[in-house]
Amino acid sequence: MKVIVIGGGPAGCAAAYTLDKQKHAVQLFEAADGVGGRTRQLHRDGFNLATGALFLMGGIYPRTSALLREMGCDAQLVPWGGAAELLDSDGARYPVSFVSLPSYLKVPTLTLGDRLRMVASMVRLMLGGGAANPFDGGDLARFDSGEDLESWSRRSLGERPYEYIVRPIMDFLYAVPASWLSTPFPHAIIRQAHRMRLSVPPGGVGQVSEWLIGAARRTELHLSTPVERVERLDKGWRVWADGQSYEADGLVMATEAFVAARLLQPHLPEAAHRTLMEAPYTEYAHVAIGYRTNPWPRHRSDIVLPVGPGETRNVGALVLHSRRHPGSVPAGGEVVGVYFNTPPLAQMSDADIEREALAETLRAFGPAPAPDFVHLFRYDRGLTIAGPGHYGRLDAVHAAMPRGVCLAGDYFSQAGVEAAVFSGERAALRLGRQLGAV
Ligand SMILES: Cc1cc2nc3c(=O)[nH]c(=O)nc-3n(C[C@H](O)[C@H](O)[C@H](O)COP(=O)(O)OP(=O)(O)OC[C@H]3O[C@@H](n4cnc5c(N)ncnc54)[C@H](O)[C@@H]3O)c2cc1C
Repeated sequence: MKVIVIGGGPAGCAAAYTLDKQKHAVQLFEAADGVGGRTRQLHRDGFNLATGALFLMGGIYPRTSALLREMGCDAQLVPWGGAAELLDSDGARYPVSFVSLPSYLKVPTLTLGDRLRMVASMVRLMLGGGAANPFDGGDLARFDSGEDLESWSRRSLGERPYEYIVRPIMDFLYAVPASWLSTPFPHAIIRQAHRMRLSVPPGGVGQVSEWLIGAARRTELHLSTPVERVERLDKGWRVWADGQSYEADGLVMATEAFVAARLLQPHLPEAAHRTLMEAPYTEYAHVAIGYRTNPWPRHRSDIVLPVGPGETRNVGALVLHSRRHPGSVPAGGEVVGVYFNTPPLAQMSDADIEREALAETLRAFGPAPAPDFVHLFRYDRGLTIAGPGHYGRLDAVHAAMPRGVCLAGDYFSQAGVEAAVFSGERAALRLGRQLGAV
Protein backbone atom coordinates (compact mmCIF):
# COMPACT_ATOMS: atom_id res chain seq x y z
CA MET A 1 0.00 0.00 0.00
CA LYS A 2 1.06 3.61 -0.50
CA VAL A 3 1.49 5.73 2.62
CA ILE A 4 2.43 9.37 3.08
CA VAL A 5 4.05 10.53 6.33
CA ILE A 6 3.85 14.28 6.96
CA GLY A 7 6.58 15.59 9.29
CA GLY A 8 10.13 14.29 9.72
CA GLY A 9 10.77 14.71 13.45
CA PRO A 10 11.42 11.58 15.52
CA ALA A 11 7.68 10.68 15.38
CA GLY A 12 7.49 10.83 11.57
CA CYS A 13 10.82 9.05 11.08
CA ALA A 14 9.79 6.24 13.47
CA ALA A 15 6.49 5.94 11.55
CA ALA A 16 8.27 5.82 8.17
CA TYR A 17 10.76 3.23 9.49
CA THR A 18 7.96 1.01 10.81
CA LEU A 19 5.83 1.27 7.65
CA ASP A 20 8.88 0.66 5.46
CA LYS A 21 9.61 -2.48 7.49
CA GLN A 22 6.05 -3.63 6.75
CA LYS A 23 6.86 -3.22 3.03
CA HIS A 24 4.49 -0.31 2.41
CA ALA A 25 5.61 2.24 -0.20
CA VAL A 26 6.35 5.28 1.96
CA GLN A 27 6.87 8.93 1.06
CA LEU A 28 7.86 11.34 3.85
CA PHE A 29 7.34 15.11 3.46
CA GLU A 30 9.34 17.42 5.70
CA ALA A 31 9.08 21.20 5.67
CA ALA A 32 12.70 21.79 6.77
CA ASP A 33 15.84 20.93 4.79
CA GLY A 34 16.62 17.95 7.03
CA VAL A 35 14.90 15.47 9.34
CA GLY A 36 14.92 15.75 13.16
CA GLY A 37 12.37 18.48 13.94
CA ARG A 38 12.98 19.82 17.43
CA THR A 39 15.99 17.51 17.84
CA ARG A 40 18.02 18.91 14.93
CA GLN A 41 21.69 19.79 15.23
CA LEU A 42 23.25 23.11 14.24
CA HIS A 43 26.88 23.03 13.11
CA ARG A 44 28.66 26.29 13.87
CA ASP A 45 32.41 27.06 13.89
CA GLY A 46 33.30 23.38 14.46
CA PHE A 47 30.77 23.04 17.31
CA ASN A 48 27.80 20.65 17.02
CA LEU A 49 25.01 22.49 18.86
CA ALA A 50 21.71 20.93 19.92
CA THR A 51 18.89 23.16 18.69
CA GLY A 52 16.54 21.23 21.01
CA ALA A 53 16.95 17.78 22.56
CA LEU A 54 20.13 17.08 24.56
CA PHE A 55 19.97 13.47 25.69
CA LEU A 56 18.17 10.12 25.59
CA MET A 57 17.10 8.38 28.78
CA GLY A 58 18.05 4.72 28.09
CA GLY A 59 15.97 2.36 30.24
CA ILE A 60 12.95 4.65 30.38
CA TYR A 61 12.99 5.19 26.58
CA PRO A 62 12.14 1.56 25.70
CA ARG A 63 10.90 1.93 22.10
CA THR A 64 13.70 4.32 21.11
CA SER A 65 16.23 1.92 22.64
CA ALA A 66 14.61 -1.08 20.90
CA LEU A 67 14.67 0.60 17.46
CA LEU A 68 18.28 1.73 17.94
CA ARG A 69 19.19 -1.88 18.84
CA GLU A 70 17.28 -3.22 15.84
CA MET A 71 19.21 -0.86 13.53
CA GLY A 72 22.53 -1.80 15.17
CA CYS A 73 23.15 1.80 16.33
CA ASP A 74 22.84 1.41 20.12
CA ALA A 75 26.53 0.55 20.63
CA GLN A 76 27.44 3.99 19.25
CA LEU A 77 25.57 5.91 21.98
CA VAL A 78 27.88 7.99 24.17
CA PRO A 79 26.94 7.53 27.85
CA TRP A 80 26.56 10.63 30.02
CA GLY A 81 26.85 10.44 33.83
CA GLY A 82 24.86 13.64 34.48
CA ALA A 83 26.89 14.85 37.52
CA ALA A 84 24.95 17.86 38.77
CA GLU A 85 25.04 20.40 41.55
CA LEU A 86 22.27 22.46 43.07
CA LEU A 87 23.38 26.11 43.37
CA ASP A 88 21.50 27.74 46.25
CA SER A 89 20.61 31.43 46.36
CA ASP A 90 23.25 31.96 49.12
CA GLY A 91 25.96 30.43 46.90
CA ALA A 92 26.04 27.01 48.63
CA ARG A 93 26.47 24.04 46.27
CA TYR A 94 25.11 20.54 46.79
CA PRO A 95 26.38 17.74 44.52
CA VAL A 96 23.77 15.30 43.18
CA SER A 97 23.50 12.88 40.28
CA PHE A 98 20.78 14.12 37.96
CA VAL A 99 19.67 10.53 37.26
CA SER A 100 19.71 9.24 40.84
CA LEU A 101 16.77 10.27 43.03
CA PRO A 102 18.44 8.83 46.18
CA SER A 103 21.38 11.23 45.63
CA TYR A 104 19.04 14.20 46.28
CA LEU A 105 18.25 12.84 49.74
CA LYS A 106 21.78 13.89 50.81
CA VAL A 107 21.08 17.59 50.18
CA PRO A 108 21.81 19.17 53.59
CA THR A 109 18.86 21.57 53.51
CA LEU A 110 16.52 18.57 53.89
CA THR A 111 15.61 17.49 57.43
CA LEU A 112 15.39 13.90 58.60
CA GLY A 113 11.60 14.28 58.49
CA ASP A 114 11.80 15.44 54.83
CA ARG A 115 13.91 12.41 53.92
CA LEU A 116 11.59 9.98 55.66
CA ARG A 117 8.55 11.52 53.97
CA MET A 118 10.31 11.33 50.59
CA VAL A 119 11.15 7.67 51.05
CA ALA A 120 7.61 6.88 52.24
CA SER A 121 6.11 8.65 49.22
CA MET A 122 8.45 6.83 46.83
CA VAL A 123 7.53 3.48 48.36
CA ARG A 124 3.81 4.35 48.09
CA LEU A 125 4.31 5.26 44.43
CA MET A 126 6.25 2.07 43.69
CA LEU A 127 3.61 -0.12 45.33
CA GLY A 128 0.52 1.79 44.27
CA GLY A 129 -1.01 1.72 40.82
CA GLY A 130 0.18 4.01 38.06
CA ALA A 131 0.57 4.15 34.31
CA ALA A 132 2.74 1.26 33.16
CA ASN A 133 3.67 3.19 30.02
CA PRO A 134 4.35 6.93 30.54
CA PHE A 135 4.24 7.48 26.78
CA ASP A 136 0.78 6.06 26.20
CA GLY A 137 -1.78 8.87 26.69
CA GLY A 138 -4.62 6.37 27.21
CA ASP A 139 -2.75 4.66 30.03
CA LEU A 140 -1.80 8.02 31.60
CA ALA A 141 -5.41 9.29 31.41
CA ARG A 142 -6.56 6.47 33.71
CA PHE A 143 -4.39 7.84 36.52
CA ASP A 144 -5.16 11.54 36.09
CA SER A 145 -6.75 12.67 39.37
CA GLY A 146 -6.92 16.30 38.26
CA GLU A 147 -4.29 17.35 40.80
CA ASP A 148 -1.27 19.30 39.55
CA LEU A 149 2.31 18.30 40.28
CA GLU A 150 3.09 21.25 42.55
CA SER A 151 0.12 20.61 44.87
CA TRP A 152 0.88 16.89 44.96
CA SER A 153 4.57 17.53 45.73
CA ARG A 154 3.95 20.08 48.48
CA ARG A 155 1.25 17.86 50.03
CA SER A 156 3.01 14.49 49.77
CA LEU A 157 6.71 15.33 49.92
CA GLY A 158 6.77 18.65 51.77
CA GLU A 159 8.03 22.17 51.04
CA ARG A 160 11.79 21.58 51.06
CA PRO A 161 11.74 18.39 48.93
CA TYR A 162 9.54 20.31 46.48
CA GLU A 163 12.03 23.22 46.34
CA TYR A 164 15.24 21.18 46.31
CA ILE A 165 14.21 18.11 44.30
CA VAL A 166 11.01 18.42 42.28
CA ARG A 167 11.37 22.04 41.20
CA PRO A 168 14.99 21.93 39.92
CA ILE A 169 14.39 18.65 38.04
CA MET A 170 11.21 19.99 36.42
CA ASP A 171 12.84 23.37 35.64
CA PHE A 172 15.51 21.52 33.67
CA LEU A 173 13.19 19.05 31.94
CA TYR A 174 10.15 21.23 31.18
CA ALA A 175 11.00 24.83 32.20
CA VAL A 176 7.48 25.51 33.50
CA PRO A 177 6.08 25.74 37.04
CA ALA A 178 5.07 22.31 38.38
CA SER A 179 1.57 23.74 38.81
CA TRP A 180 1.24 23.62 34.98
CA LEU A 181 1.86 19.86 34.90
CA SER A 182 -0.27 16.89 35.86
CA THR A 183 0.97 13.96 37.93
CA PRO A 184 0.54 10.69 35.95
CA PHE A 185 3.64 11.18 33.77
CA PRO A 186 6.10 12.13 36.55
CA HIS A 187 4.65 9.41 38.79
CA ALA A 188 5.18 6.79 36.10
CA ILE A 189 8.72 8.07 35.46
CA ILE A 190 9.56 8.02 39.20
CA ARG A 191 8.48 4.36 39.30
CA GLN A 192 11.00 3.59 36.56
CA ALA A 193 13.67 6.12 37.54
CA HIS A 194 16.12 3.41 38.63
CA ARG A 195 16.38 2.44 34.93
CA MET A 196 17.35 5.94 33.79
CA ARG A 197 20.70 6.13 31.92
CA LEU A 198 21.57 9.24 29.96
CA SER A 199 23.24 8.99 26.58
CA VAL A 200 23.78 10.96 23.38
CA PRO A 201 24.25 9.64 19.82
CA PRO A 202 27.70 10.59 18.42
CA GLY A 203 26.13 13.16 16.08
CA GLY A 204 23.72 14.50 18.72
CA VAL A 205 20.09 13.54 19.39
CA GLY A 206 19.13 14.66 15.87
CA GLN A 207 20.96 11.58 14.61
CA VAL A 208 18.14 9.32 15.88
CA SER A 209 15.89 10.60 13.08
CA GLU A 210 18.71 10.33 10.54
CA TRP A 211 19.34 6.71 11.56
CA LEU A 212 15.64 5.86 11.31
CA ILE A 213 15.16 7.42 7.90
CA GLY A 214 18.47 5.95 6.68
CA ALA A 215 17.26 2.48 7.70
CA ALA A 216 13.88 2.99 5.97
CA ARG A 217 15.66 2.27 2.71
CA ARG A 218 12.74 2.31 0.29
CA THR A 219 11.23 5.50 1.76
CA GLU A 220 11.13 8.43 -0.64
CA LEU A 221 12.16 11.56 1.26
CA HIS A 222 10.91 15.01 0.20
CA LEU A 223 12.85 17.64 2.18
CA SER A 224 12.05 21.39 2.13
CA THR A 225 8.56 20.32 1.01
CA PRO A 226 5.86 21.52 3.42
CA VAL A 227 2.48 19.92 2.85
CA GLU A 228 -0.06 22.65 2.17
CA ARG A 229 -3.34 20.78 1.80
CA VAL A 230 -4.87 17.35 2.41
CA GLU A 231 -7.87 16.08 0.37
CA ARG A 232 -10.00 13.03 0.83
CA LEU A 233 -10.56 10.79 -2.23
CA ASP A 234 -13.13 8.00 -2.73
CA LYS A 235 -10.39 5.58 -1.80
CA GLY A 236 -7.44 7.13 -0.08
CA TRP A 237 -5.95 10.60 0.25
CA ARG A 238 -4.25 13.30 -1.79
CA VAL A 239 -1.73 15.80 -0.41
CA TRP A 240 -0.51 19.00 -2.06
CA ALA A 241 3.06 20.14 -1.63
CA ASP A 242 5.25 22.39 -3.74
CA GLY A 243 2.46 22.86 -6.30
CA GLN A 244 2.16 19.11 -6.95
CA SER A 245 -0.25 16.45 -5.73
CA TYR A 246 0.60 13.02 -4.37
CA GLU A 247 -1.88 10.20 -3.68
CA ALA A 248 -1.77 7.48 -1.06
CA ASP A 249 -3.95 4.87 0.64
CA GLY A 250 -3.19 6.30 4.08
CA LEU A 251 -1.53 9.15 5.96
CA VAL A 252 0.47 9.52 9.15
CA MET A 253 0.27 13.11 10.38
CA ALA A 254 3.47 13.59 12.41
CA THR A 255 3.64 17.38 12.57
CA GLU A 256 3.03 19.54 15.62
CA ALA A 257 -0.61 19.23 16.79
CA PHE A 258 -1.72 22.66 15.50
CA VAL A 259 -0.33 21.91 12.01
CA ALA A 260 -2.20 18.59 11.93
CA ALA A 261 -5.34 20.46 13.03
CA ARG A 262 -5.04 22.98 10.17
CA LEU A 263 -4.32 20.39 7.49
CA LEU A 264 -7.09 18.05 8.62
CA GLN A 265 -9.72 20.67 9.51
CA PRO A 266 -12.21 19.81 6.71
CA HIS A 267 -12.07 16.11 7.68
CA LEU A 268 -12.41 16.36 11.48
CA PRO A 269 -15.28 16.83 13.93
CA GLU A 270 -15.06 20.32 15.40
CA ALA A 271 -14.22 19.09 18.93
CA ALA A 272 -11.24 17.06 17.71
CA HIS A 273 -10.01 19.99 15.62
CA ARG A 274 -10.23 22.30 18.64
CA THR A 275 -8.44 19.84 20.93
CA LEU A 276 -5.53 19.60 18.48
CA MET A 277 -5.44 23.38 17.95
CA GLU A 278 -5.30 23.94 21.71
CA ALA A 279 -2.69 21.27 22.57
CA PRO A 280 -0.25 23.35 24.63
CA TYR A 281 3.27 24.21 23.45
CA THR A 282 5.35 26.43 25.71
CA GLU A 283 7.56 29.33 24.79
CA TYR A 284 11.18 28.24 25.22
CA ALA A 285 14.68 29.72 25.01
CA HIS A 286 18.21 28.51 25.50
CA VAL A 287 21.55 30.09 24.80
CA ALA A 288 24.76 28.38 23.66
CA ILE A 289 27.85 30.25 24.89
CA GLY A 290 30.92 28.97 23.07
CA TYR A 291 34.61 29.08 24.03
CA ARG A 292 37.46 27.77 21.84
CA THR A 293 39.47 27.37 25.06
CA ASN A 294 37.60 25.90 28.00
CA PRO A 295 37.74 28.42 30.90
CA TRP A 296 36.78 25.75 33.48
CA PRO A 297 38.44 22.46 32.47
CA ARG A 298 38.30 21.18 36.04
CA HIS A 299 34.78 22.18 37.07
CA ARG A 300 33.37 19.32 39.14
CA SER A 301 29.89 18.99 37.68
CA ASP A 302 28.26 18.78 34.22
CA ILE A 303 24.98 20.48 35.13
CA VAL A 304 24.23 23.36 37.50
CA LEU A 305 20.64 23.70 38.71
CA PRO A 306 19.85 27.02 40.45
CA VAL A 307 17.66 26.53 43.56
CA GLY A 308 16.34 28.72 46.35
CA PRO A 309 13.03 28.36 48.17
CA GLY A 310 10.27 30.59 46.86
CA GLU A 311 12.58 32.48 44.49
CA THR A 312 11.44 33.22 40.98
CA ARG A 313 14.24 32.14 38.66
CA ASN A 314 14.72 32.99 35.02
CA VAL A 315 17.31 30.28 34.40
CA GLY A 316 16.45 26.64 35.13
CA ALA A 317 19.71 24.87 34.24
CA LEU A 318 23.22 25.31 32.86
CA VAL A 319 25.01 22.45 31.08
CA LEU A 320 28.69 22.03 30.16
CA HIS A 321 28.42 20.42 26.74
CA SER A 322 31.97 19.04 26.61
CA ARG A 323 30.91 16.86 29.57
CA ARG A 324 27.53 15.93 28.10
CA HIS A 325 29.11 14.83 24.86
CA PRO A 326 32.83 15.46 24.26
CA GLY A 327 32.39 15.09 20.48
CA SER A 328 30.03 18.09 20.35
CA VAL A 329 32.85 20.62 20.87
CA PRO A 330 36.30 20.94 19.26
CA ALA A 331 39.17 19.56 21.41
CA GLY A 332 39.90 21.88 24.35
CA GLY A 333 36.73 23.95 23.79
CA GLU A 334 33.52 24.33 25.77
CA VAL A 335 29.90 25.31 25.23
CA VAL A 336 27.65 26.30 28.11
CA GLY A 337 23.96 25.68 27.40
CA VAL A 338 21.83 28.05 29.47
CA TYR A 339 18.21 26.86 29.66
CA PHE A 340 15.55 29.45 30.57
CA ASN A 341 12.28 28.94 32.39
CA THR A 342 9.20 29.79 30.34
CA PRO A 343 7.27 32.32 32.48
CA PRO A 344 9.77 35.21 32.30
CA LEU A 345 10.33 34.93 28.54
CA ALA A 346 7.28 36.95 27.53
CA GLN A 347 8.90 39.98 29.22
CA MET A 348 12.45 39.38 27.94
CA SER A 349 14.02 40.69 24.73
CA ASP A 350 16.67 38.61 22.94
CA ALA A 351 19.33 40.97 24.36
CA ASP A 352 17.95 40.48 27.93
CA ILE A 353 18.15 36.70 27.52
CA GLU A 354 21.72 36.76 26.22
CA ARG A 355 22.86 39.17 28.95
CA GLU A 356 21.32 37.06 31.69
CA ALA A 357 22.73 33.84 30.19
CA LEU A 358 26.26 35.27 30.38
CA ALA A 359 25.80 36.54 33.95
CA GLU A 360 24.41 33.18 35.12
CA THR A 361 27.27 31.34 33.41
CA LEU A 362 29.85 33.31 35.40
CA ARG A 363 27.87 32.77 38.64
CA ALA A 364 27.64 29.03 38.00
CA PHE A 365 31.14 28.26 36.73
CA GLY A 366 33.38 31.20 37.70
CA PRO A 367 35.28 33.93 35.82
CA ALA A 368 35.88 33.57 32.09
CA PRO A 369 37.07 35.74 29.19
CA ALA A 370 34.55 36.98 26.62
CA PRO A 371 33.07 34.00 24.76
CA ASP A 372 33.85 33.28 21.10
CA PHE A 373 30.14 33.19 20.28
CA VAL A 374 26.72 33.50 21.84
CA HIS A 375 23.87 31.78 20.00
CA LEU A 376 20.25 32.21 21.09
CA PHE A 377 17.66 29.54 20.30
CA ARG A 378 14.17 30.91 20.87
CA TYR A 379 10.91 29.08 20.17
CA ASP A 380 7.35 30.41 20.21
CA ARG A 381 6.30 26.80 20.53
CA GLY A 382 9.03 24.75 22.17
CA LEU A 383 7.86 21.97 24.45
CA THR A 384 4.58 20.11 24.67
CA ILE A 385 3.36 19.91 28.24
CA ALA A 386 0.45 18.12 29.87
CA GLY A 387 -1.71 19.67 32.57
CA PRO A 388 -4.58 17.93 34.35
CA GLY A 389 -7.09 16.51 31.83
CA HIS A 390 -4.63 16.65 28.90
CA TYR A 391 -4.08 12.94 28.28
CA GLY A 392 -7.76 11.97 28.16
CA ARG A 393 -8.60 14.91 25.84
CA LEU A 394 -5.80 14.14 23.40
CA ASP A 395 -6.22 10.38 23.47
CA ALA A 396 -9.90 10.78 22.50
CA VAL A 397 -8.79 12.46 19.26
CA HIS A 398 -7.48 9.16 17.85
CA ALA A 399 -11.05 7.83 17.72
CA ALA A 400 -12.21 10.91 15.74
CA MET A 401 -9.72 10.37 12.90
CA PRO A 402 -11.15 9.52 9.49
CA ARG A 403 -10.25 6.07 8.13
CA GLY A 404 -6.75 6.00 6.70
CA VAL A 405 -5.35 8.83 8.85
CA CYS A 406 -3.34 8.27 12.04
CA LEU A 407 -1.75 10.90 14.25
CA ALA A 408 1.72 10.87 15.79
CA GLY A 409 3.62 13.40 17.89
CA ASP A 410 5.04 13.88 21.36
CA TYR A 411 1.96 15.90 22.39
CA PHE A 412 0.02 12.70 23.22
CA SER A 413 2.29 12.27 26.27
CA GLN A 414 4.78 14.97 27.26
CA ALA A 415 7.76 16.42 25.35
CA GLY A 416 10.50 13.88 24.69
CA VAL A 417 12.00 11.72 21.97
CA GLU A 418 10.46 8.55 23.41
CA ALA A 419 6.98 10.10 23.38
CA ALA A 420 7.50 10.94 19.70
CA VAL A 421 9.01 7.59 18.70
CA PHE A 422 6.37 5.61 20.62
CA SER A 423 3.55 7.60 18.98
CA GLY A 424 5.11 7.28 15.50
CA GLU A 425 5.54 3.55 15.76
CA ARG A 426 2.01 3.15 17.12
CA ALA A 427 0.46 5.32 14.37
CA ALA A 428 2.27 3.21 11.74
CA LEU A 429 1.04 -0.05 13.28
CA ARG A 430 -2.54 1.29 13.50
CA LEU A 431 -2.47 2.46 9.90
CA GLY A 432 -0.90 -0.83 8.79
CA ARG A 433 -3.81 -2.69 10.44
CA GLN A 434 -6.37 -0.41 8.74
CA LEU A 435 -4.82 -0.83 5.34
CA GLY A 436 -4.37 -4.58 5.73
CA ALA A 437 -1.74 -6.71 4.11
CA VAL A 438 0.45 -5.19 1.41
C1 LIG B 1 14.90 23.07 23.62
C2 LIG B 1 14.41 21.65 23.65
C3 LIG B 1 15.10 20.70 24.40
C4 LIG B 1 14.66 19.38 24.40
N1 LIG B 1 15.38 18.44 25.09
C5 LIG B 1 15.03 17.12 25.00
C6 LIG B 1 15.88 16.10 25.54
O1 LIG B 1 16.97 16.37 26.07
N2 LIG B 1 15.49 14.80 25.42
C7 LIG B 1 14.31 14.46 24.79
O2 LIG B 1 14.01 13.27 24.72
N3 LIG B 1 13.51 15.41 24.25
C8 LIG B 1 13.85 16.72 24.32
N4 LIG B 1 13.07 17.68 23.73
C9 LIG B 1 11.79 17.28 23.11
C10 LIG B 1 11.95 16.66 21.74
O3 LIG B 1 12.77 17.46 20.93
C11 LIG B 1 10.55 16.56 21.13
O4 LIG B 1 9.73 15.84 22.02
C12 LIG B 1 10.57 15.81 19.80
O5 LIG B 1 11.36 16.46 18.84
C13 LIG B 1 9.13 15.72 19.26
O6 LIG B 1 9.15 15.02 18.05
P1 LIG B 1 7.95 15.09 17.03
O7 LIG B 1 8.36 14.28 15.87
O8 LIG B 1 6.69 14.78 17.75
O9 LIG B 1 7.84 16.64 16.63
P2 LIG B 1 8.92 17.60 15.95
O10 LIG B 1 10.29 17.24 16.38
O11 LIG B 1 8.44 18.99 16.20
O12 LIG B 1 8.78 17.28 14.40
C14 LIG B 1 7.68 17.74 13.63
C15 LIG B 1 8.18 17.93 12.21
O13 LIG B 1 7.08 18.26 11.35
C16 LIG B 1 7.56 19.17 10.38
N5 LIG B 1 6.43 19.88 9.75
C17 LIG B 1 5.63 20.83 10.32
N6 LIG B 1 4.70 21.25 9.42
C18 LIG B 1 4.91 20.53 8.29
C19 LIG B 1 4.25 20.49 7.02
N7 LIG B 1 3.20 21.27 6.74
N8 LIG B 1 4.73 19.63 6.08
C20 LIG B 1 5.79 18.84 6.33
N9 LIG B 1 6.45 18.85 7.52
C21 LIG B 1 6.00 19.66 8.49
C22 LIG B 1 8.47 20.09 11.19
O14 LIG B 1 9.36 20.81 10.34
C23 LIG B 1 9.19 19.08 12.07
O15 LIG B 1 10.38 18.60 11.50
C24 LIG B 1 13.50 19.01 23.68
C25 LIG B 1 12.81 19.97 22.93
C26 LIG B 1 13.26 21.29 22.91
C27 LIG B 1 12.52 22.29 22.08
